[in-house]
Order: sequence, then C-alpha cells, then structure tokens
Amino acid sequence: MNPLFLVRVVLVATSHPGNIGAAARALKNMGLSQLVLVTPKHFPDTEAIARASGADDILQNATVISSLDEALIGCHLVLGTSARARQIPWPILNPKEAAELAINNLKKQHKIALVFGREHAGLTNEELERCHYHIQIPANKNFSSLNVAAAVQILTYELQMAYLQWQQLPTKMQKQESALEQNNLPCTKDNLELFYQHLEQTLINIHFLDPNKPKHLMARLRRLYGKAQITKLEMNILRGILTETNKAIGSKN
Ligand code: SAH
Repeated sequence: MNPLFLVRVVLVATSHPGNIGAAARALKNMGLSQLVLVTPKHFPDTEAIARASGADDILQNATVISSLDEALIGCHLVLGTSARARQIPWPILNPKEAAELAINNLKKQHKIALVFGREHAGLTNEELERCHYHIQIPANKNFSSLNVAAAVQILTYELQMAYLQWQQLPTKMQKQESALEQNNLPCTKDNLELFYQHLEQTLINIHFLDPNKPKHLMARLRRLYGKAQITKLEMNILRGILTETNKAIGSKN
C-alpha cells in the first residue's frame, strides 16, 4: 500500500465548497487520498464536485466531522499550516522541511495530519496549539495568505516529491523510447567527417572558401559544429541544406 495513504488532509471550517473540490483535486494529483472536513459550511455541494474535476472519489470518501480533536484521533504527527506567526512561538517548518519530516514518520508507519484553516481567519490559536509543528509557506510578506486549496497543493506537492525521492522513483517524466529517440542520438564521428567534406566542397563551390587561401576556415567551422553536439536528425538537416545549395548552383555535390 502507498504510504501516503497514512496522511490525512484536514480542512477546518471551509466556507467555499469550491475550495474543498480544488483541495480534493490537489490530493488526488499528488497521490494522497484521505480528506477530512471539520464542520464545512456547504458539503456535499455541486461546486465542490465541479472544482474536483474528476477527483470525485476523494470527495465521496471524505469524512465530515464536528471537531478538530476528532479529526486528529490516531495521528502521531500533526502539522498545522498558518500564513502568519502567532503570539506564542512554535517550531516552524517550511513545506520542504515539513515533507521531509512527514516522510521520516511514514517510514515508521506513523499517521500524519496536515491541517488547514478557514479562508478568512485561518486556524485559531487553540487549533494551532494542537499541532506539533507549524508550517509556513514563504510568501510575499505584505500578502502572505494563499488560497487554502493552493496551500494544500504546495504541501501535497512537496510530500509527493519527498516520497518519490524516498522510493527512488523518477521526479521527471520518462522519455519515450521510440524512433524519435533514435534521431536524438548524437551523430557519429564518421558522419561528422563526411559532413565536413561535404561542407568544404560546398563552400568552395559557392566561392566562400578559396582552397588556395583557406585561412583556417574549416578548423573554425569544426570548432563551431563541435560545440553543438549535433544529433542524427540535425545532421540530416545540415546535409540536406548542403545538397540543396549545390543543386541551386547547378553543382553535383
Ligand atoms: N488570514 C488567515 C489566512 C487564511 S488562508 C491567516 O492569517 O491565517 C486559509 C488557510 O490557507 C490557512 O489557514 C492555511 O491553512 C493556508 N495558508 C494560506 N497561506 C498560507 C501560508 N503562507 N503558509 C501556510 N499556510 C497558508
């Protein structure tokens, strides 16, 4: 089972059902599945389904409960998010640090809650005091409050990245092995030599290169093309240009 199933995302008293939908989408995009809604204003709701854009299963399986304490039952690590520092200083993490801590806990099969607050007022001090750590997304200091679903997206993304690194799974799209891939192989040294011969002859044909006064032109061009790491496909293009140039001036090669 994917260990990210041990992470529950808790949204406290969300006003806009669209934000619940957008959060559900973020969860599913990032491989999480447990959404817990503490006293949402409107849920279930068509706007939530619309904004979930296909993450309906997350909404259907979401638990709706009446208090944060209930949402945190069984959790070993509680991470609360807040846009601003509160009166009593608390251990604060940025999203990357929080994801690393979460992964270290997942390695021990610990259950984790990520808690997000109300759109207008965030989490209360009492709610934040229930969290082991506070997570702050570094933002514009004069405009630091993100949309709650955007905050969910950032946290779940960092979690997914940390998870992929832990599992040594790729964090970049895998390239397709195909004919296209073949074309992207570097061209071989012998092909390059044939190209230089073709180029030199063409430059002579168009009177750009005087074979009696070559002035290191070919050496300079070799240096130039040598830097380009020409692929098979690009080599075909260059050879095609030379062939057409020769045709245009009525020369055989
Ligand atoms: N005025 C509220 C902001 C609420 S934004 C406040 O100052 O807390 C709604 C929720 O989105 C927050 O409770 C938090 O869960 C999340 N959020 C928004 N901006 C954030 C930030 N910069 N860092 C961490 N969480 C943030």
